[in-house]
Amino acid sequence: MGRMRENNDSGIVTVRQEISGFIKEAPATARDISKAVGITEKDAYYHLEQISKKFGKDLKVILPECRKCGFTFSKKFGKPSKCPECNETLITEPEYYIK
Ligand SMILES: [Zn+2]
Repeated sequence: MGRMRENNDSGIVTVRQEISGFIKEAPATARDISKAVGITEKDAYYHLEQISKKFGKDLKVILPECRKCGFTFSKKFGKPSKCPECNETLITEPEYYIK
């Protein structure tokens, strides 16, 4: 990516630190994170799951919701493909932020 991954402390910012910093400012989807940090969406979900273990309840998740009937999914990491209630495939993506 050619981007500098440096800060004043250790000289190296890990992907997880970069993600944590990114979602401190505003809620973001795994897709936003993947673009911002330069990883795949799948990796973004993986790192978010690891971050949630470290931050516990400080990592907030806006759960995915069916755009048709409003059904809220309980899966925190990953993107549901179909609503179990009405079979709608337009589902909002989960968003993450640290508070
Ligand atoms: Zn639905």
